Amino acid sequence: MSYRVVSRNEEDTIVLAENIESEKFPNMVICLYGDLGSGKTLFVKGFANALEIDENVTSPTFNIIKEYKGQMDLYHMDVYRCGSQVECLGLEEYFTKGGIVMIEWADLIEDELPKERLDVFFEVLENDTRVIRLKPYGDKYEDVCEAVI
Ligand code: ADP
Ligand code: MG
Repeated sequence: MSYRVVSRNEEDTIVLAENIESEKFPNMVICLYGDLGSGKTLFVKGFANALEIDENVTSPTFNIIKEYKGQMDLYHMDVYRCGSQVECLGLEEYFTKGGIVMIEWADLIEDELPKERLDVFFEVLENDTRVIRLKPYGDKYEDVCEAVI
């Protein structure tokens, strides 16, 4: 089962991410897939808004992991630049810290991902239109999708 949403502009993408709010739980893992510029980081920004994170969320491409303090802590990763060397990061440690983990370019580290998670695929249709597909693995993530769609 997957859920398909059409985002017509930046605001649609932010609102979709914000709407996951009511169902947030500790150790939630959200994996983001899609080309450069498809909206992955913007989606993380929307998510951070809902967590009342004041700090401006920017792409962690050069840091690989950025940590933000909010209602729940947010660990924002972009593994584009480390790919298969990700074992060095001790990534799995972040899956049990009680915060929320969001991973851009998660396809590069497929083998390291937890079985239960939410996959989010971004596809650019034209100009500002994006197709965003949510694919939950596990009951908790199914519930999250049911609540936002
Ligand atoms: P990524 O992290 O996937 O590389 P970003 O979120 O950094 O992408 O950038 C997405 C870009 O696309 C931003 O400049 C944003 O303003 C633009 N954009 C236009 N329309 C949308 C939309 N519907 N959803 C998300 N981003 C959009
Ligand atoms: Mg990005």
